[in-house]
Amino acid sequence: MPRMTLAHEGCLACDLASGRRPLPGGRLAERSGWVVEHAVAPLGLGTLVVKPLRHVLHVADLDDAESAALGPLLRHVSAAVTEVVRPEQVYVCLWSHAGGQPGHIHFVVQPVRREDMERFGAFGLSLQTAMFAADQRPEPAEIEAFCTRVRPLLAAGTGSSQDGEGQDGEISS
Ligand SMILES: [Zn+2]
Repeated sequence: MPRMTLAHEGCLACDLASGRRPLPGGRLAERSGWVVEHAVAPLGLGTLVVKPLRHVLHVADLDDAESAALGPLLRHVSAAVTEVVRPEQVYVCLWSHAGGQPGHIHFVVQPVRREDMERFGAFGLSLQTAMFAADQRPEPAEIEAFCTRVRPLLAAGTGSSQDGEGQDGEISS
């Protein structure tokens, strides 16, 4: 089996990454085998997806470079959406199990606002379930506008983690 499978026929994640399907906002960042995009799922404006460029179905199948980059990248993406959205919390989760079948893994980085919780009367997994049931997606123009704001933040501070995020808030712990 080839290790570097770059696109898999019929895979939504591969199709979005390769441009075979339209992706509002386009590719936001790329680093160490990972790409960042705005989510196409109905999880609200500002929800980003972090996924390997390779068609990887299981976290256990990530290679060493992908694994090493993952933690810093999730932190970096979470910091960027925090700066733009100022949410109550940022959920970071991975299911990749649509239809009960292993799919191209993708971490969802979801900024959750107070109004999201109030609108759906839920938080955590129940909030995500309610958002999927409501199936309301942001307009492509809204996504494009959000991506214009978050793209420079994602581009900044790549590499070193000394990018000073959180500088305007006191760290109390
Ligand atoms: Zn794929």
